[in-house]
Amino acid sequence: MTFAIHGLAVARGVAIGRAVLVASSRLDVAHYFIEPAQVTAEINRVRDGRDAVVAEIRRLQSSIGHMGPKETPHELSALLDVHLMLLQDQELAAGVRHWITDRLYNAEWALTSQLDVVVRQFDEMEDDYLRERKADLEQITEKVLRAMRGVSSPLIQPLGRAGRQTSQQDLLLDDTVDVPLILVAHDLSPADMLQFKQSVFAGFITDVGGKTSHTAIVARSLDIPAVVGARLSSHLIQQDDWVVIDGDAGVVVIDPSPIILAEYGFKQRQVELQRGRLARLLHTPAVTLDGQKIELLANIEMPDDASSALKAGAVGVGLFRSEFLFMGRHGKLPNEEEQYLAYRRAVEGMQGLPVTIRTVDVGADKPLDETLRDDAHLNPALGLRAIRWSLADPAMFLTQLRAILRAAAHGQVHVLIPMLVHAREIRQTMALIDHARVQLDNRGLAYGSVKMGAMIEIPAAALTLKVFLKYFDFLSIGTNDLIQYTLAIDRADESVAHLYDPMHPAVLRLVANTIAEGQTQGKPVSLCGEMAGDVSMTRLLLGMGLRSFSMHPAQILTVKQEVLRADTSKLAPWAAQLIAEDEPMLPPRKTA
Ligand code: PEP
Ligand code: MG
Repeated sequence: MTFAIHGLAVARGVAIGRAVLVASSRLDVAHYFIEPAQVTAEINRVRDGRDAVVAEIRRLQSSIGHMGPKETPHELSALLDVHLMLLQDQELAAGVRHWITDRLYNAEWALTSQLDVVVRQFDEMEDDYLRERKADLEQITEKVLRAMRGVSSPLIQPLGRAGRQTSQQDLLLDDTVDVPLILVAHDLSPADMLQFKQSVFAGFITDVGGKTSHTAIVARSLDIPAVVGARLSSHLIQQDDWVVIDGDAGVVVIDPSPIILAEYGFKQRQVELQRGRLARLLHTPAVTLDGQKIELLANIEMPDDASSALKAGAVGVGLFRSEFLFMGRHGKLPNEEEQYLAYRRAVEGMQGLPVTIRTVDVGADKPLDETLRDDAHLNPALGLRAIRWSLADPAMFLTQLRAILRAAAHGQVHVLIPMLVHAREIRQTMALIDHARVQLDNRGLAYGSVKMGAMIEIPAAALTLKVFLKYFDFLSIGTNDLIQYTLAIDRADESVAHLYDPMHPAVLRLVANTIAEGQTQGKPVSLCGEMAGDVSMTRLLLGMGLRSFSMHPAQILTVKQEVLRADTSKLAPWAAQLIAEDEPMLPPRKTA
């Protein structure tokens, strides 16, 4: 039966494929695709695991056979019988074989997928006794998984977090699966999302997350259709269901009828055609009708993203979120050499164009590692994140600063500092930069000169720009956080996503004021929040005087098209009028 789930539109386009549910079961296991030649070995691993548990139960049964009824309650023997029966269930075994043979899932993934299928069936049962067998099933699955751990697959090569089997990150590139696959998960961390850059997925859906949560941001950078905040999707969608993602509308259609499929197939082709048309603008300079040159920069997460930035026609990197180099490493931070090489790769990848490296911004919805998620503090978004974290650990910060300064010997580098709010934080940061230079001098290591920039992403910063303009060469407006902190809306919480409004007059005034102050002082101002890549905001931002936009590479050409059609001399008075409004407005539709 066809049904739809509504969530938040994150990344454009239409994806049609089969659902792959990740970690929907309580058991956290590795997920990866195997080669067809490895099918038998994986089936044998499950069989061996199961046989080991059967043998263990039999041993237990025979040992309690010698005891009297006092020591062995009747319930225990009954329970062992049930466990044996479940372990030897043919349907269960056939289901596991299906996931391994037909979908090429690794043994653990196949086992937990089949557990999900059967648990659902149990949930639907009227009979209380049978419904309660669910817990037994989970227990024996856990036992089999444990037994299999002793016979670990030679195929497992966990990415990044060596040695730890995780649920979502081991989904690797696999060219043996030709049906497009749609990833469905309750939640994904930004680090997990990043791993999907190398994966096969044609789209993804999560139950939770806001439009500018970091998971959504990384998804957008992958340029595949995605919907977040589609509550209960990981419960309502079943393994292997056919699913359509309408990334523009934020809608997920499950089990689509042939008519719906045909309609979305048509839409998919339209999106492709539109991309083809936009590609013609690649080498066209971004200049408005009235001759204003507009700088379109890229936001990147990893050094190798520099190539997609260049391919998309970016004239530089406006935001390199360096924290992604720090994530998913069990809290073990990258050393100076590793960081230097990574920054240098990004700088050289941009072939002489500027690269703005933002110093590490971890915390809140960007934990260093999922296992280190900050649940201890009531308000992580207001806690020790970004520059606060860096200043709290000067040795770590100096390591990063030295690495960036050294990379600056290989090209144009700008350093961007996140989350500043106090003048004393600015002074401490500047002192540490000087100190990093002295350390490099002492070690005789080469380094280059850098321009220093501050992110304006806390209302207090936007209201005290003078001090920022005094110390910094440029400013970059981080609207994702600026909106979050101005409107007191957690950007990662889908339940308040409807209140996360970039058009709120308070937000617009802070943004417009920052652009204007920068202009007055002759200091460049860029905008690197998601607003920069939102084409419905382009004209308004141009009208406010913004001349530098930094966004995901995939959005650059769409924004460029809007720039080419705009006349800033007409947009300026209209923008001023809009900002003066007291009511939040709908996204502007001005045509000038
Ligand atoms: C922002 O806050 O707008 C920004 C660009 O930084 P991040 O999204 O990484 O917090
Ligand atoms: Mg920010």
